[in-house]
Amino acid sequence: MFTLPSLPFAPSALEPHISARTLEFHYGKHYQAYVDNLNKLIAGTELEAKSLEEIIIVTFNQPDKAAIFNNAAQAYNHNFYWQSLSSDSSKPSLELVAMINTSFGTWDAFVEQFTTLALSQFGSGWAWLIMEEGKLKIIKTANADTPIAHGQKPLLVVDVWEHAYYLDYQNRRADYIKNILTILLNWNFAEKNLAL
Ligand code: MN
Repeated sequence: MFTLPSLPFAPSALEPHISARTLEFHYGKHYQAYVDNLNKLIAGTELEAKSLEEIIIVTFNQPDKAAIFNNAAQAYNHNFYWQSLSSDSSKPSLELVAMINTSFGTWDAFVEQFTTLALSQFGSGWAWLIMEEGKLKIIKTANADTPIAHGQKPLLVVDVWEHAYYLDYQNRRADYIKNILTILLNWNFAEKNLAL
C-alpha cells in the first residue's frame, strides 16, 4: 500500500501565492484520490511489491495498464511537485546558476522560456526542469506523463493542471507560474536531484 507522504510545509506556508484552501483540495482530495486509486488497482497483483518508479516504468505505453500508469505517475508527479515548492526563498547555488546561464543564456531567459513552455501546455499537464546529456532543459508533459517514463532526470516541476491554481488565480496561469518561478521554487531540492 502506498501512503501519502506529509506535505513538506504547513498548508498555509505558501500564502498568498498558493492558498491553504488550494492545498486542502489539491493535496487532500486530488492527490489522495490518485494514491487511493493506485492502491485499489494494484491490490492483489504483482505490482504491489514494486516501487512507484518501477510501476511507472513497467506500465508506460501499455494500453491495458493505462489507469495504473496514470494514477502512479500522478502520485509521483505530485510528490515531486510538493518538494519543488518551498517558502524558504531558496536560491540556486553558484554552480547551478552557471548551468542555467550555459543552458538558457541568462536567469531572465530561463524564467521566460519556462513560462512560455508552461503556458503552451494545452489542457492539463506539467512543466519540468530536467537534466539531459549534461544540459538543463525545460520540457512539458501532458496529463500524467512524467520524465522518468522516458529515462529523463527531473530536477523541479510545476503542476499546470487547473486544479493547481484555479481557486487562487482562476484563468491566470501565467501569474501562478511566475510566482512559483520567482518566489516558491525549492532550489535545495533541485540540487539534491542533480546530485543523484
Ligand atoms: Mn495536481
